[in-house]
Amino acid sequence: MPRPLATIVASGNGANALAAGMRILARGGAALDAVEACAKVVEADPADTSVGRGGKPNVLGQVELDASIVDGTTHRTGAVAALTGYLHPISVARAVMERTPHVFIVGQGAARFAGEIGAERARNLTPSTRALWVEKLREAGETPATIRRRARLLPVVRKTVGEERGTVNFLAVDAKGNVASAVTTSGWAYKYPGRVGDSPVIGAGNFCDSRYGAAACTGFGELAIRGVTAKTAVDRLAQGMPADMAARAAIGDANALDDAAFNIVVLTARGVHAAATNREGRRYAWLTAGMREPLTAPRILVRRSRARGARASR
Ligand code: ASP
Repeated sequence: MPRPLATIVASGNGANALAAGMRILARGGAALDAVEACAKVVEADPADTSVGRGGKPNVLGQVELDASIVDGTTHRTGAVAALTGYLHPISVARAVMERTPHVFIVGQGAARFAGEIGAERARNLTPSTRALWVEKLREAGETPATIRRRARLLPVVRKTVGEERGTVNFLAVDAKGNVASAVTTSGWAYKYPGRVGDSPVIGAGNFCDSRYGAAACTGFGELAIRGVTAKTAVDRLAQGMPADMAARAAIGDANALDDAAFNIVVLTARGVHAAATNREGRRYAWLTAGMREPLTAPRILVRRSRARGARASR
């Protein structure tokens, strides 16, 4: 079998970062390095309010970051959750994978570990995301001063959480056929402190296996955790299902659970890719060796039917 052409696939907000990964793949570099490099570009970009610096904070105004990385060949994984104060959670996740006997470190432990390895610190709440947070609190009848004094946050969180979420996914296959995947996010905007979504949960928001391919999710992470969505998608590839059908099936599964926004990107070990969603207007992006620029395309739309279950359309 001929080797696949090196390819990186991303959620739509990752399009501008793909060149950073392709520079690595084009010189024969590893998929693992490529997905980390792409993720770092978006983490450092304050214009993306769903990832890294400039990501929207929790209800207390703290930017809590979740990230994970999977090496599909060795099946080593690393993840961090509710990490505060560092610029590149994806690199901290990779260090969890490579430098600790663990796979997942959260909260204060994650920040302590990031400090211990000399990870780059950052003030992730930017003036503009702070202003968005203050406005959200105002809508909920609170201010930064009142929310800090509140004993019970849940009544406020019920008002502050909506459909404002976001994440970036990168899936890559390199010229040697190694597959890797990276997911990084600030999670659900204005969430309860300590809430962890699917992005750092291996098998839920992120999974890959170099024999079959990779899958990663964006959208309502609780659904990907409940459905073990990324692992299920890769299992479907392993059973011989094409990428587009595996992507459709994942959205169908999510639609059967809830009406929330949900998206998936899928890449096979041969470099075939697809993406699906249950909301209008969502796109995804890819860059294959030899292409001058990334391309983006609409995701397959799988609507939720009125009855439980889903109906697929392009
Ligand atoms: N999946 C992310 C989470 O639940 C958010 C998103 O992608 O919209 O934290």
